[in-house]
Amino acid sequence: MEPGGKTTGSVAPERLEAHAGRILAAAGTGIWRLDPAGEVDLSASAAALLGCPAGKAMGYDDFLTLVHADDRENLDTALRSHDADHGVDLDFRTASPAAAARWINARGQGFADEAPRAIAGVFTDISGYKQTEAQNSRFAAILSTSEAAIVGKTLDGVITDWNAGAEAIFGYGAAEMVGTTIARLMPEGHADESLLILERVRRGERVQLFEARRRRKDGEIIDVSVTVSAVRDRDGRLLGASKVARDITAAKRAQAALQEREEHLQSILDTVPDAMVVIDAQGRIRSFSVTAERLFGYRADEIIGRNVSLLMPSPYREQHDFYLHRYLTTGDKHIIGSSRVVIGQRQDGTTFPMELSIGETSGQQQRQFTGFVRDLTERQQTQQRLHELQSELAHMSRFTAMGEMASTLAHELNQPLTAAVSYLNGCRRLLARGAAADPEMLNEGIERAAEQAMRAGQIIRRLREFVARGETERRTENLPKLIEEASALALVGAGQYEVRVQFDFGPEAGTVFADKIQIQQVLLNLIRNAMEAMQDSPRRELTISTRAAGAMAEIRVADTGPGVSEQITAQLFQPFVTSKAKGMGIGLSISRTIVEAHGGRLWVEPNPGGGTAFHMTLRTMAGEHADDD
Ligand code: ADP
Repeated sequence: MEPGGKTTGSVAPERLEAHAGRILAAAGTGIWRLDPAGEVDLSASAAALLGCPAGKAMGYDDFLTLVHADDRENLDTALRSHDADHGVDLDFRTASPAAAARWINARGQGFADEAPRAIAGVFTDISGYKQTEAQNSRFAAILSTSEAAIVGKTLDGVITDWNAGAEAIFGYGAAEMVGTTIARLMPEGHADESLLILERVRRGERVQLFEARRRRKDGEIIDVSVTVSAVRDRDGRLLGASKVARDITAAKRAQAALQEREEHLQSILDTVPDAMVVIDAQGRIRSFSVTAERLFGYRADEIIGRNVSLLMPSPYREQHDFYLHRYLTTGDKHIIGSSRVVIGQRQDGTTFPMELSIGETSGQQQRQFTGFVRDLTERQQTQQRLHELQSELAHMSRFTAMGEMASTLAHELNQPLTAAVSYLNGCRRLLARGAAADPEMLNEGIERAAEQAMRAGQIIRRLREFVARGETERRTENLPKLIEEASALALVGAGQYEVRVQFDFGPEAGTVFADKIQIQQVLLNLIRNAMEAMQDSPRRELTISTRAAGAMAEIRVADTGPGVSEQITAQLFQPFVTSKAKGMGIGLSISRTIVEAHGGRLWVEPNPGGGTAFHMTLRTMAGEHADDD
């Protein structure tokens, strides 16, 4: 070493010492010197740290009042009991109000050449450090109690932290893992996985919740869900990665079991011929089976969440919410627990008859209703065919009966008519005699002829009664229900027509006094005629509406067909008038007879929108009572 260098070296410390006070103050450190039996000297920055005015002479007891009451005794003891070998190194809080209290580290050394108790040193503000320390111990507590595995790693994958959760999940203790990598947790074939993840973390990505498989110490393979994020220092420099992992093996197993059960249930539901629709208490569709998709033409994903009323034609569509609400508030069951034939509406607007059974389930969250829907089209088609065969038979027999009747009738009518003719011939001969004619005889001849004509009339009336035969049984009937049933029946096999049916029931025409079967026959006839008429129309809409007309209920069956042909109009209600190749032409005549026998009327009007509208009136209960009075 050069002498010059030595000289320089010895000067610098002296210079620095001369400035020691200022250098320490710049570092936020204050200097102090005290004698517990005497005075205390504080540098300006030491005074500032303790929160007292600088440059003021102070006794030892005054100095202690600047220290937090809880730390005072400790500090006092340390300051009094120091010796030359052991200095003082102690943290204490200042006495300033709690929020503003500072943590100070006091370090000092006694002076052998001074009074035995004199000691001097530095105060350093360690509030920031203390705060971090408190935070760290809070974090440590959280880490150690967390059930999740929390693992810290360097960017090279070396484990730096391993909490109790990690030990519980993976079976290895912190002592075994810290300083190694997680390679031994990786099942075969997954070794690179963690390196790839670290690579992504290095690029600054946060690797969100992913699922992975890991091997426990006991060899068991478990499922974990993991999140990895970067650990950075204050200046944003990447230090490593922290990984939070959760054992989801049990949850996954439960989920798989649940899914299996659901699939099983679903496969059962998909194979039953009934369609299943589940709705909640608000009427929103929650589940829609494959059969339901086929039946209604909606895909489950487009209808789930929508109101079930979509599956019904008006007016049920508008009323459904009300019915549901009424049931929920009154518990009054109308359809729940039983089954009923109703009309369903497909996505394309066409309607079909269906049998609906509804069950209620009270799930954990809320009440649900499960509807099983059976398409009656097919079943009823078969029945319908039987029915048709039957009615063809009946038709035929009635027709033959009518043929027989006609010959009997010819025979029977022949008598009174022949008689009437001969009476009238007699009268003519009498008249031919001119004045000589006997007015008495003439009168009698005409009267006899009239009597015979009346007899002929009675015979014809008997024929009409025969045609509209059947014991009638009249009761109070719910008109919308009666119509609904008849329409469902009429719609059977209407698939080929693809008709859109609309109902519009007036509230005032709720009940009628009628023979249900007979009136349904009339409706069936009108609806079938309407559907046949619309067969070739571009628009096929059938509207059935009711309204009150005084003491009567008026039912209107309107179609958008071509209207009644001109040749037919005048004799529409006459028997044997038909425009159809296979038609009998007696439907409307029988219908009119039935309606008139009920005290109502049946007539036809053009449908303003194009097509035909048949109207009929029936007595309501009010009408019945009006008659009784
Ligand atoms: P059928 O249906 O056997 O012909 P109906 O007495 O029921 O016997 O009907 C008689 C005729 O009235 C039908 O052939 C048809 O020409 C006409 N008709 C009935 N309903 C309608 C209608 N809605 N639109 C057009 N024409 C109709």
